[in-house]
Amino acid sequence: MIGKESLSATNLAAYHHFNCDLFIYNTYNGVEGLTISSDHVHESPTKLDAAQFKRGLDWEKHLFSWLDRENLLLTVPSYPMNVEDLVENILADERNHFFVAGISFMPPQEHFDEMYRKAGLEPVKFGLAKPDLVEITHLEDGVMWKVIDAKASRAVKTSHHVQIYFYTLCLSLLLPQYFFHTNNAAAVWLPPEDGFDTNTPSFDDLKTVVTSLLSFPLDEFLFRRLPTILSHPRKEVFWHYNALCHGCPFSKDCKQKAIRQGQIGSMSNISIPEAKLLRSLLQIWRDSGISHPRGETDIEDLALLLEDGKGLQKISTSYPVTLRKAKRILTLPPRNRKVSKTAAPPSPILQAARTGEIQVIPRRNSTCPKIEDIAVVLSLLLDPSASSGTSSIVSFSISIFTTETISVEIPRIVHSDRTDLIPSLAYIIDSILSLSRSLNKPPRTQFYVFSPAEHSALQNHFIDAALNSAYPTQDIRICIGALSQGASLLQTTFQPILLSGVLLDFLAKGQRKKRDLQAILERMNLSIEGNVEELKRRIQEELQRLQRDDYRQAAQQQRRDELGQLPRIVVLKSEIEKSLALPIPGFWNLQECASILLSPNLREAQCPSDEELYDVFASGGSPSALLEQRNRSIYAVLVSLRSHVCNVNDHLLLNEAKVLTSIFMDVCREERLRKLFYMQQFEVLAKLSDLWRSRIDGCPEAPILQYHSTQQGSKRLEHTFYLLSGNLDMAASEKERSFFDYLLVEDRDCDDFESDAHTPVEALFDDLAVSGLVFPLNRYTKTRWQSQNPTVQEELLLADVRDISVQGIRTKVVLQTWGDATFKFSEEHTYRISPRLVDFNISKILNALFELDLQHELENVWVPYIQIIRNPKSFNQEIISSTTRKMLGKAGSDMQSLFRTLDGLDVEGAKPLVLKASQNRAALHILSNRLSVIWGPPGTGKTHTIALSLLRLFNVYANASSQPDLDILPPKVVFVTAVTHAAIDAVLKKLTYLIQCYQSIDSLPAEWLHKVSIEHVTNGNDHAAPSDSSVFSLYAGTIFQLYNFSKRHSLSVDCIVIDEAGQLALSSAALVLRSLRPYSRIIIAGDSEQLSPILAVKYHQLKSGPLFGSILDTLMYVSRPSRIEPRDTRPSSPVPDDASDMSSQSTIVQLTENFRLNPDLGEFVSTIYSRAFRPQKVQARQIALALSSISQSETPQATNEYLRILDNIRKFLLGLSHVMLKRPQGVLSPPLLSSLNENPQLNEFRPLIDVIPHPLSLALIQLQTVSKRHRENVGYELHVKAEAAVTAALITTIQQHLPGEDIFVATPHRIQRQAVKAALSAGHFNASLSLSKIFNKMTIDEGQGKDQIESSVIVDTIERLQGSEASFVICLFSLPQSHIADLQFLLERRRLNVAISRAKSMCILISSAEVLRPAVGALTDEETTKGYAFLRAFADRAWSSNVKVDIDAL
Ligand code: SF4
Repeated sequence: MIGKESLSATNLAAYHHFNCDLFIYNTYNGVEGLTISSDHVHESPTKLDAAQFKRGLDWEKHLFSWLDRENLLLTVPSYPMNVEDLVENILADERNHFFVAGISFMPPQEHFDEMYRKAGLEPVKFGLAKPDLVEITHLEDGVMWKVIDAKASRAVKTSHHVQIYFYTLCLSLLLPQYFFHTNNAAAVWLPPEDGFDTNTPSFDDLKTVVTSLLSFPLDEFLFRRLPTILSHPRKEVFWHYNALCHGCPFSKDCKQKAIRQGQIGSMSNISIPEAKLLRSLLQIWRDSGISHPRGETDIEDLALLLEDGKGLQKISTSYPVTLRKAKRILTLPPRNRKVSKTAAPPSPILQAARTGEIQVIPRRNSTCPKIEDIAVVLSLLLDPSASSGTSSIVSFSISIFTTETISVEIPRIVHSDRTDLIPSLAYIIDSILSLSRSLNKPPRTQFYVFSPAEHSALQNHFIDAALNSAYPTQDIRICIGALSQGASLLQTTFQPILLSGVLLDFLAKGQRKKRDLQAILERMNLSIEGNVEELKRRIQEELQRLQRDDYRQAAQQQRRDELGQLPRIVVLKSEIEKSLALPIPGFWNLQECASILLSPNLREAQCPSDEELYDVFASGGSPSALLEQRNRSIYAVLVSLRSHVCNVNDHLLLNEAKVLTSIFMDVCREERLRKLFYMQQFEVLAKLSDLWRSRIDGCPEAPILQYHSTQQGSKRLEHTFYLLSGNLDMAASEKERSFFDYLLVEDRDCDDFESDAHTPVEALFDDLAVSGLVFPLNRYTKTRWQSQNPTVQEELLLADVRDISVQGIRTKVVLQTWGDATFKFSEEHTYRISPRLVDFNISKILNALFELDLQHELENVWVPYIQIIRNPKSFNQEIISSTTRKMLGKAGSDMQSLFRTLDGLDVEGAKPLVLKASQNRAALHILSNRLSVIWGPPGTGKTHTIALSLLRLFNVYANASSQPDLDILPPKVVFVTAVTHAAIDAVLKKLTYLIQCYQSIDSLPAEWLHKVSIEHVTNGNDHAAPSDSSVFSLYAGTIFQLYNFSKRHSLSVDCIVIDEAGQLALSSAALVLRSLRPYSRIIIAGDSEQLSPILAVKYHQLKSGPLFGSILDTLMYVSRPSRIEPRDTRPSSPVPDDASDMSSQSTIVQLTENFRLNPDLGEFVSTIYSRAFRPQKVQARQIALALSSISQSETPQATNEYLRILDNIRKFLLGLSHVMLKRPQGVLSPPLLSSLNENPQLNEFRPLIDVIPHPLSLALIQLQTVSKRHRENVGYELHVKAEAAVTAALITTIQQHLPGEDIFVATPHRIQRQAVKAALSAGHFNASLSLSKIFNKMTIDEGQGKDQIESSVIVDTIERLQGSEASFVICLFSLPQSHIADLQFLLERRRLNVAISRAKSMCILISSAEVLRPAVGALTDEETTKGYAFLRAFADRAWSSNVKVDIDAL
């Protein structure tokens, strides 16, 4: 039994990769029968493993030789060095900036030993440390150093962070600190995305992390957890056999142990978090107090638990989320209607492990076809040593399996190397298409690969090929058309609308040349041969065909025939995991799967392993025969899968394969438009896929309602229900409009979708047929409803949620319904309600993009939309002469001086017309430039600035007769838009107010105001066109109303203003920007640090900048001044214009004066903006005084947990008031400002600490939820309940002492919102505070003739609070240990910023250790790290207190 008895950084990294205590324990202490060599994870038992390792070495070599060529490399001798030698080597080099390679040294063991000794723990020994590079920068007063490791992976991993942190920690203790400064950062250098063989390394790929952020979790690991693990008795060390164990030297041993001991790891594909969840479920059951038999092993206990109906019932009441997750892991139906009150059905995955037999998972599968006529199976040989993902396919084999009826007109087998892949696929697809044309009944065809890795390599290969002209375009088009997901949605649903709509408009405009007609025919995939007349006729005929609605009918037919959507290429491994439970512990590959599913006598059961295949390739042989054999195995496995599933239930595989089509329509030709076009479609597809997935299982998560009564509403009947389970939400605004965005069906006990042939009625609903229709339908649109499946028409209603309210412990839901369903509501019955796709805009956006593309290509005009995306600077420079610029600038300056003078003379009404310095810069920019991006942190007066700038603009042009030769268009027609109605109203209100101010100043000429007309477009289809060309017409409305308005009157617009542009997607902005005429103006205002448009899919950003986010992000990125270093790609932090720099070069102006936030909050929030903004408000002393009266109030005796919470919260608020009044207090801990690093290079992460004394407006409650019953496994619901109780205590106390102050409670999740409402309505803290008082505007008479003060409490999700403000903001950002998977969502910096910056006077953040000190794994995501840095900055400068809540007592 020999262990290493010391650990290297690589071992620590491997521990984090395997996430296994036993791994590090065995490595250090040894294990019987195994000898551990150093860094054994890099041992290379197979050529495949060696190839993976080789890629890392190749990248390192490539990087070092590039650094050497660039004269940036210093290589030191590779023997272990002492520090003095290392220092000497570094100081001997005279270059200012270089990288040192080859360093190896012994860690500062003595220092570490001392730390362990102080903590009372056994010291851990560490071996030689070998960082790849240390970056050195000579400074005036010393040397700045940074550790860098070269890693050949595609993204940074936790294991990389562990390594660079360890090296940094060691060096910071070893190097003389007076001269060697660490810059609190370390980095991982990744290879270029397109491969390092053809591209040089780039500084852009240096992924830097702030080491102080890593220190929280990693110091805890190194100096507490690690010694504890290593000193445990072996049998108490945590381990779980799972897919990550692949490559672990102890794998064989653990696999046997998992089976022998009946561990959870004896089941297949259970991840570590899943295993932990199952263990905590078992613990909950064991602690539940119900007597039950006990098994010998974990899997036996799980089986007994599922048989214990009473126990399950009890758990489902207290831990519904945990139980639901456990059921999903155990492949059980989430809600089983027939047997929910007794035992659960047996879990197939559990049964497979217990019996050793294959089990069928009785769940519907819509993604694996039950039959096809032609199966095309692809095997790809991937080379892990390839320098990029796209070049990883080295060889392939395609085999075709057909039913007997198909003749042999298609090739049966093709294999070759990667260069032939696309031509071969195109040839096969073409052959199948020809065969289809020759047969009466075209063959149903399905493509298959085995692994997700092959699937993604194939998709990458297509994308690569599409961007690389080396292949014949036709082949690529055929492949993408036939095999790319989403192509069919475009062809059948959107293409007809686009082609017939936009093309008709386009063709109607004037004479078209032959070239134009050919371009159109190409887009329609029609022949371009013939003379002009023939071409025209061909287009006309096709358009007529489209108008006859053939396509729509075909689309509907296709959607009706298919439940969900079959993937174009099925990944067989995923389908097997979905439908079968295999008796293989931990994880399995094709070889194991074939050996268990196929009879050993079959040739197909002998499947070559990945290692065998790679060995042949690496030895220079041809892998064709083995790949062909692999294809045969894959097909045999597919057949076996079907036979297993169909033997149990013939209805589980829902779909048949489809007839192959390969229509690839390149609707947009301009590169960026084409990408936006596809993104819009994928958005629809992603949303639909989510809906389909849940509907096929009968919407297991859908809220269940019990009918109560029906009454007459204002327009229609309203039905009242009580919510029995689940969460239901109602849009906060716009309830005057009915979207009927839910499906309502009867939830019958007899429905057992998991095994019955009965299809859930929601799964038959065709969303796309009615997604853009306004309900209730009229007699024209009703035909669309009639095209729905008859069952849908009979059994389903569309529902609109009119109201949700809490009544005691029940939630009342009021619905309006629409439809012809024949069932009658009854109190006896329950109903389930689930969302549908509502999208009024997608086809409009696609239309607008297509239209812009046609204009761009065929009309030979400058299209402003494309110009600003491509090159906003040139858009700005164009046209305007320096004389005009000067003249406009001077006019603006004159106006500012005039109002400043008037204000100085105390003229009433003048003050609001004077802009602050940065606002005035913005106004001058708007006057004299075509494109202005006004960027401002919260509360800097963006709306005020744009409203006043517009008035100044009108003013200047109204007097233009006295200023000749202005060569920029006068703002005759102006559109003002924003995403929300509230933002549009705010601009209109501001304009009205400012006009009143103008008019109130008698000495000012105001005739020009008569030429200005301002209209709110609420219904674009009915709004009147501008009537008088001599006036300036401003139209404000949503993008959709302005789109309708401009379409209806064919309006061209001279100026477009977009407010809150950070929320508007670039693609949606096309709806208004399409109307811009050349030489026009664009004004964009917003804050890119606030929440951006919500997209269903996370898109990879392009190297050219963000295209799939908001228009603000895109413009701020592409407008970056060139002086920004290339590696700084954050769109949030461009260097804004200098005050002096008003040239045409710049487009961005940052507003810096803050009107909302007080100094503390303002300066805290400014830590994420590149330039500080100046707070204008001072803290209200009256808040402190009012809170100080808490001491005089009666604090009831803490007889229960709620009163104890209230007592704590009162003490907390009282402590805050003492802090504000500079009185001593002992409840709150002061901010940790002194611990912050003041390095100026880290401004991005660091607050401006030296200018702020102790901030008084930032407060932190560290919530700890404890439970004797549940130990550390506090479930999410219980934690949220505790968080809500603390929040309710805060609200109650603040309301009591500061009744006039508004309070926002910002909740990331809806469940938190519901919990806070429930806590308040329960009246634990103040029975007299009724819900209606809390949630409706509350009017309090202050008496003595004072005005009435309105205060309100709003509890809402952060998305909905954006754009509003309150005196107090309580942000709920806490999590229990059991729910840390949610951390990434919670730590999104924009979300935190929006929540915190709503506060005018005080922000109280409720968080927990899990969020404030996240696990190191959370920090590999760049965005999460930014959010965490922001949260830490808050925590470090907040006055804080701990609140412990005993959830057992709630
Ligand atoms: S095989 Fe898995 S469970 Fe066993 S020591 Fe390795 S990582 Fe841990």
